Amino acid sequence: MYIFKTIRETTRYLSEQKNNGFTIGFVPTMGALHAGHLDLISRSVKDNDITVCSIFVNPIQFNNPDDLKKYPRNLDADIELLTISGCDVLFAPEVGEMYPEGENYSLEIDFGDLDKVMEGQFRPGHFRGVAIVVKKLFDIVLPSRTYFGKKDYQQLAIVEFMVAALGIPVAVVACETVREADGLAMSSRNVRLTALERQQAPRIHQVLCQLRDKLQNTSIHEMKSWASQQIEQGTEMKVEYFEIANSTNLMPAEVWNGQDRLVALTAVYLGSVRLIDNLELF
Ligand code: AMP
Repeated sequence: MYIFKTIRETTRYLSEQKNNGFTIGFVPTMGALHAGHLDLISRSVKDNDITVCSIFVNPIQFNNPDDLKKYPRNLDADIELLTISGCDVLFAPEVGEMYPEGENYSLEIDFGDLDKVMEGQFRPGHFRGVAIVVKKLFDIVLPSRTYFGKKDYQQLAIVEFMVAALGIPVAVVACETVREADGLAMSSRNVRLTALERQQAPRIHQVLCQLRDKLQNTSIHEMKSWASQQIEQGTEMKVEYFEIANSTNLMPAEVWNGQDRLVALTAVYLGSVRLIDNLELF
């Protein structure tokens, strides 16, 4: 596997590969890789001639400085996992490479309400930071296909929206959430849970599954407060939001008309760790 720290080396190598007619699959990550990330890598390895992974803890998408400071970093282990998974290129830039001093990095896209609800409401500026870095990475890698996890459901919607709005010629491939055996969605932040918190965390997925089975005969409003209560009851968990939304545009649903595809999405604090999860209900 080639490991590049600079944009120049990366674009030089990849433009040669493109000139050879090779397709490029791209998996952007923030590292501390787990089986969820590796699933995206193996999808890309299957679909493309060359697979590129980026590891970059993007400071401008963190609204909480403590979360940024404590974000797990483990580049040596990541390199080993990527090599075993058949990844061809790792792009792992420093912050100064992506955001040189004095360079303007704004992005003018009107996401409508998509970047204002749920994660957008509770993490102001988060999706602007995500969109800026993903656009920059796309410009560097120029992938034919890119792989994103449904674990970050709203982020996936933001990326799809941006790709359509800017006419970026890349296919966005949505990949299912990979879970631990007890249902907890894999996340780099899980390593920060204490043993007790780790024991309680699978409740989030259990409640999402119960909600999916119950939805038919109860109102959406009742379902949301029921689910929040179920998650918090007898645990240290604090629900930041629990939303049921239209899975196409992510607008909160008030009533279910029996036809719309809905998704339940939640963010939960367990101590200082913020976990997100979701489940498509139909
Ligand atoms: P991150 O490193 O957390 O920014 O995630 C990089 C990519 O991996 C994003 O597209 C995530 O949605 C995806 N991802 C993270 N966790 C999982 C998971 N448990 N299952 C599937 N994809 C995931």
